[in-house]
Amino acid sequence: MARINDNYTKLASGYLFPEIARRTKVWSANHPGVQLMRLGIGNTTEALPMVLVDAMKAKLDKLSSRDTYTGYGDEQGDTPLREALKDFYKKHYGVELLADEFFVSDGAKSDAANIQNLFSEDCIVAVQDPAYPVYVDSNVVGGRSTGFQDGQYKGLVYLEGNSENGFIPLPPKQKVDIIYLCFPNNPTGAVATKEQLKAFVDYARENKAVIIFDAAYSSYIEDEELPRSIYEIEGAKECAIEINSFSKNAGFTGVRLGWTVVPHALVCENSEPDVLRGMWNRRQCTFFNGASNIAQAGGLAALSDEGYKACQGLVDYYKGNARIIKEGLESLGIECIGGKNSPYIWAKCPNGMSSWEFFDFLLDKCHVVVTPGAGFGAAGEGYVRVSSYGHRENVEMAIASIKENMR
Ligand SMILES: *Cc1c(COP(=O)(O)O)cnc(C)c1O
Repeated sequence: MARINDNYTKLASGYLFPEIARRTKVWSANHPGVQLMRLGIGNTTEALPMVLVDAMKAKLDKLSSRDTYTGYGDEQGDTPLREALKDFYKKHYGVELLADEFFVSDGAKSDAANIQNLFSEDCIVAVQDPAYPVYVDSNVVGGRSTGFQDGQYKGLVYLEGNSENGFIPLPPKQKVDIIYLCFPNNPTGAVATKEQLKAFVDYARENKAVIIFDAAYSSYIEDEELPRSIYEIEGAKECAIEINSFSKNAGFTGVRLGWTVVPHALVCENSEPDVLRGMWNRRQCTFFNGASNIAQAGGLAALSDEGYKACQGLVDYYKGNARIIKEGLESLGIECIGGKNSPYIWAKCPNGMSSWEFFDFLLDKCHVVVTPGAGFGAAGEGYVRVSSYGHRENVEMAIASIKENMR
């Protein structure tokens, strides 16, 4: 008799996005003909730069001829792409890594979910609160929680963000084994300084803990002194894995391409250098057959000087939207975090409203859809996430409507 993996029954129901869809649908049904404006999505909307498109077309042409056709590539990714990633880290972050420390994948989300599998089931996991849900859910499925209670998973350690710490928590007081960090953060848009990240690196080295650093929004950082890779912090290669993606940095949300860095030097309590890197290599080679060769051709173009410039143009467009949103909300006296080195604005609900009350208010009075912060964790209550992904004209209309209907 087959039996289910009981850990799935411990997951709280996926409530956030279905509930947003439900409320939006009900409202639209009651207000036929009224156009809603969406500032809720975390999905890119603008066209790919032609440099990337041309590179992918050229790869497709190669595949169309028997002489230049290629099938499976290396599970770890094409060597030129891994080399280009290595060069990119050196050039843009001043970080020295080896090409074989980069593992190319079909995206950061699957890597973020799969990485927990390298670690023992009895590891104590710490996550930021609020957080991108994949870190939490993958560890629940991995057996590291006994269940959901009072809005949190028992067994996980929550590092609370709040207005006092600017949504950048300190390292935990107790001993934990795995720490997930995401900067620039989804959903809050907060970005840790080098000093703040160093505190986590120091903690991890002292406790033989491992940091999983999600840098999916690294290209949105414009302040030179802010770290765009955790390896800008001394000692991080011994204690950190970095996950990143072409999704938000190059508009590849639908194309699908990401990478994970597992340094040779990475260690944990019961492993020597190179053990964890070897385990991830083994995992990728047996459970994964490599990212799409067409996507990898596009990724290689995105890392070239011309491609990088074009992608930064895309990032600047979204950041222009973020500025409009942030300035608009702040002009109404709404307190905002993020929106500068990040595509997300984390807005405090006015007049003591809860996340869902402010969501309903914006929907009903302004016809704008945002994302309730409470959906990202208990500490998100009292906030909403406003996303800059959208066409400029729609963002401008949405902000104009909020300004007009909220004063
Ligand atoms: C969008 C996003 C990703 C990207 O995931 P992909 O699978 O590469 O598209 C990763 N982490 C965070 C926090 C994100 O918001």
